[in-house]
Order: sequence, then C-alpha cells, then structure tokens
Amino acid sequence: MKKKLEMLEELQEVDQQIDVLKGAQGALLAEMSGINQGVDAAREEIAANEATLAQLETEKSGLESTHAAELENIVRSETNMKEIKTNKEFQAVGREITAAKKQVSDLEESLLQKISQIDELSGTLAAKKNTCDELAENAAQRVAAKQAEIDAVQANIDAEIVRRENVTKGIPASLVKKFTILREQRRGQALAIARDGYCMGCNMHLPPQLYNNLYKHEELLTCPHCQRILILKLQQQ
Ligand SMILES: [Zn+2]
Repeated sequence: MKKKLEMLEELQEVDQQIDVLKGAQGALLAEMSGINQGVDAAREEIAANEATLAQLETEKSGLESTHAAELENIVRSETNMKEIKTNKEFQAVGREITAAKKQVSDLEESLLQKISQIDELSGTLAAKKNTCDELAENAAQRVAAKQAEIDAVQANIDAEIVRRENVTKGIPASLVKKFTILREQRRGQALAIARDGYCMGCNMHLPPQLYNNLYKHEELLTCPHCQRILILKLQQQ
C-alpha cells in the first residue's frame, strides 16, 4: 500500500507538472497572438487610409470633370455671344458666363484643397507603411522565438506524458480513474497529507481511528470531509 501511495504521489507530481507546462504554453500562445495583433492593427490602419485616399482621388476626378465641363460651357457661351442680336440676351449670357467663371474658380479652389489632402495622406501612408514593414519584420522574429519556446515546452509536456504512462502502468486502472476524478473535483489535488490528526487538504480534524489506521499502511484511506486520498507525513517536508 505504501508503494501504491508513493506512485500516486508521483502521478500527482506529474499531473501538476503537466498543468504548469500547459499554463506556460498558454501564456506563450497569448503573447504570440498579442504580437500578431499589433501587426494586424497597423495593417488595418493602412487599409483604412488607403480607402480614404481612393475616396479622395475619386472626389478629385469628379471635381476635374465638373471643372472641364464648366470651361466648355464658358467657351460655348462666348461663341454664342457673337450671334446674339438683342442687348437683353447679351446681358443674360454675360451673367451666365460670370456665374460659370465664379464656379470654375470655386472648383479650382476645391481641387487645390483636395490635392493637398491627397499629398498629406500619401505622405502619412508612406510613413505608416515603413513603420508597419519594420513592425512586421520585428514581429516575425519575435513570433519565431515564441514558437521555439512553445515547441520546447511541448517537448517537456510530451516527456511528462510518457512519464505519466509509465507511472500509471504500476497503479491499478480503477485507482488511476478514482485519482483522476478526484483531481478534477478537488482543484487539481487528489491527495492530501495527513499530519497531527488533521487532513491538510481541507484542514479538518480526522477521526482518531482513521488517523491511527493510516500508520498501518494496509488500505487506501480517504478524508471523510474532502474525500482526498490521505498520505501520512509526520514531518513537514
Ligand atoms: Zn480532507
């Protein structure tokens, strides 16, 4: 029975080690996804800027078309003027030309503004692309380093799993099952140390007869309060 308990202790140690390693691996994976998120955010920002730039270019083309059309209108009106007979008509077309010229001047003002917006955004975008390239390169190196760490931890997990298989070979399957269920139910601790008449798993006093029986090492005893498998340890280790 003592041997069985020692093997259960080793099983518990292996399982805890696996939990620790999996936790470390999870943290590394989270760090890796954090690195990738930084690059993704930079790329999304660039895509948004590119969309804005395309929109500004479309608006600029629209202004250019309107501008060209207005210039044509002025030329047409000026040509028409030569055939006008009455003073009244002449004045009306004159007003049209004045209005069209004002329109052209406004359009030119808007075009200049648009061009300056495009230039500014193009400059920002080029700078952002440079930064993003550097970020991506740096991130790729950090991700590769994280992946190497994750792989190393996985190698340790694999080794612990082999160790676990070897340990469980020496323990009856029903006991391994009981241990596994207990571990799930008792926050990772299927075993509890018994000392000075107490269960160290739940800090409850053990019935004296049960505590005395632990010294005999004849059977597997469990705490009546927390159901953990008891291991007698007289000295604090
Ligand atoms: Zn207990």
